[in-house]
Amino acid sequence: MNHEMEASSLHLLRTAIGSQCTECGACVRYCAFLRRYGPPKAIAAGLEAGDPGRMGTAFRCSLCGLCAVVCPEGLDPTGFFLALRRHQVASGGLTVRPYRGLLTHERLGRSSLLSWYGLPPGCKTVFFPGCGLPGSRPRATLALFEHLRRLVPNLGMVLDCCIKPSHDLGRETHFDAVFEALRTRLKERGINTMLTACPNCTKVFRWYGKGLAVQTVWEVLHAGDVGGWERRGGGVEVSVHDPCPLRDDQPSQEAVRGLLTDSGYALVEMHHRGRRTICCGEGGAVAHIDPDLAGEWTLLRGREAGGRLLVASCSGCVAMLNRSTPTVHLLDLLLPAEAALDKAAGRPFAANTWWRRFFLKRKVVRLSQERR
Ligand code: SF4
Ligand code: SF4
Repeated sequence: MNHEMEASSLHLLRTAIGSQCTECGACVRYCAFLRRYGPPKAIAAGLEAGDPGRMGTAFRCSLCGLCAVVCPEGLDPTGFFLALRRHQVASGGLTVRPYRGLLTHERLGRSSLLSWYGLPPGCKTVFFPGCGLPGSRPRATLALFEHLRRLVPNLGMVLDCCIKPSHDLGRETHFDAVFEALRTRLKERGINTMLTACPNCTKVFRWYGKGLAVQTVWEVLHAGDVGGWERRGGGVEVSVHDPCPLRDDQPSQEAVRGLLTDSGYALVEMHHRGRRTICCGEGGAVAHIDPDLAGEWTLLRGREAGGRLLVASCSGCVAMLNRSTPTVHLLDLLLPAEAALDKAAGRPFAANTWWRRFFLKRKVVRLSQERR
């Protein structure tokens, strides 16, 4: 989108919010951001009044999408706050400093050090694990790939970055160019289907992957034979935290639940689930500029878990939620114990996650050479 189109899209969204938002408060109730700054109409009014501080406010919205789901007027505050971010970037107003670590993380993910295209002959489908899973659980990622290879003929693996950090920071021109190059590279190599493990990658490929089919690995596992994996739930009660990028993805939500119950876990649903799930606090890179605000979502989710073990299919959610309540990755419960051993805590985007990704790349490169 060029600068004029971006400005007119922001204008349309701002006009809709300004004229139709009744300030009913439905979106404010479970949103730490709106609780602090007021309903979307109040924020839009601040912009109309020329309050320059309000522009940067949008970087405190986690872009979780809950407001658009609950709004009785059918408004899209998420789109409004993303458009505000893009406008801020296009006007040169983004302060990059707090996001340097995140953008380095993105750049390294695309570098020859960590990226890899392992495409066997006849490969049309690839496993795209993203950055979070390999960065926290390299052995589990490898075990998952080996399992998927038994279910999907000629399955390849692509280690690369989906560029979601730049997307959410409003770096639209950068995102458009880099993601399109990634999409073209995949299409030119004959790939037509992406199997994703990360909710952010899933969302980006679904929204922008034109011509690429996308399915989560949880759907493939649930539909396939998970023989060889232990049924070790023993009736233990767990609750599922649905990651907000997949709030509209019922098939993957059902697959996650099916995998847990098939493994012997007893599911206790939380009040906010599926379409109405709540952000874990990681969304929109809010924690990079306002960790206290991000922590409010984390605490809210932790309180709702009520002491039960939470299970998420997103390594970012797991790392965040563990700060307020015990949370594990779905793979930690499904995989044989030795493959799940590397379930690593630690900060996302830290240097040790890069080392783990490098370790995974070395392993898969060696395995693919041995298979030739
Ligand atoms: S997208 Fe999420 S964080 Fe942003 S305003 Fe809506 S509910 Fe709040
Ligand atoms: S739910 Fe809709 S109408 Fe109500 S305050 Fe939020 S944006 Fe405004």
